[in-house]
Amino acid sequence: MADRMDVWGPRRSLRVSVRHLAGESTGSFVNRLAHAHELGLGDLLGRVGVGRLPVDPRLPSLAELYVNREALEHLAVLSGRTPHRLQLALVNLQCRFLLPGDAPARWQWPFKVQEGQHVVRCCDLCALARGAREPAWLVCPDRWRVCLRHRRFTDDHRGEEPQVVRLDGLPEVVRAHAERLRLERRFGTAGTELFADGFEVVSRWWARMPDAWCWTQRAWRVGLDAQELRTAPLVIYPEAVQLAREMLRYEQEGARSRAARAVWVEQVQQLIDGWGLEGGEGWSELTQWLDHHARAAARPFAPDDGLRRRRRRELAVGHSRLAEPSGSLSERSCMPVTP
Ligand SMILES: [Zn+2]
Repeated sequence: MADRMDVWGPRRSLRVSVRHLAGESTGSFVNRLAHAHELGLGDLLGRVGVGRLPVDPRLPSLAELYVNREALEHLAVLSGRTPHRLQLALVNLQCRFLLPGDAPARWQWPFKVQEGQHVVRCCDLCALARGAREPAWLVCPDRWRVCLRHRRFTDDHRGEEPQVVRLDGLPEVVRAHAERLRLERRFGTAGTELFADGFEVVSRWWARMPDAWCWTQRAWRVGLDAQELRTAPLVIYPEAVQLAREMLRYEQEGARSRAARAVWVEQVQQLIDGWGLEGGEGWSELTQWLDHHARAAARPFAPDDGLRRRRRRELAVGHSRLAEPSGSLSERSCMPVTP
């Protein structure tokens, strides 16, 4: 068994080496490391350093653990890695996220995750493939994610079941996610931003009419409450991708006359009618989006070849404020923040 932490910190690694998951939160990893050695979370943290919070076993699902430089070194020793390797494995151990003050070793588990991060449940089968037999959590830019490989939807919701939503009953959502990934691969940043726009616009429609039949029946098919906020990203996915494709087509065509705008709106309205959504107060979001994309592309909107990326980024003028490529969907979208 490992050394107890004394003034020099732990000197030997724990018996069982625990593999990290891609994108795993530090708290989730430390939690699994403790359990692999039949230690309580608090016992293991006691070897990492000094922390002020009472340790709650629910912490890994609620928030993220942060450490300072010396605690990082202790954690590295305990996990049998060098600090550098551990920093490569767990994003929140990178130098920019370390707590200030190199020594003495200390950790913090604040209830708020760093700006722009969410602690999202890991797909159970992805975790199992890496030997994790208990719940694990990832750090994500959005509140939810889809595992294409195992057809799972997970989020940062810690309340009712299902914690991991199986998408077997929603093939259209799985297809939509695959389509989004294709769009992002093919068109790079522009593809990412257009998906973010499509998603943001349809999210607003959902907020106005969460009881639309196309969304309600999807929620029911996977055992979710149709009116609940956590359900929205899952049920609107197919429409969000279809709208993103229409936005892409508008950008590719490049026509910006009043007539071209009207034709596009007309076509999108037909699409929306096909979804069975009622316009109600009108589709003001589409007009907003068009206003942000009012300047035509300097050259045809083409698939990503790296070289054109910079030029192409200029095309989506509504996106000029977006410098952060790893932000959440709403940050990547050019739609203004709703009050
Ligand atoms: Zn998976």
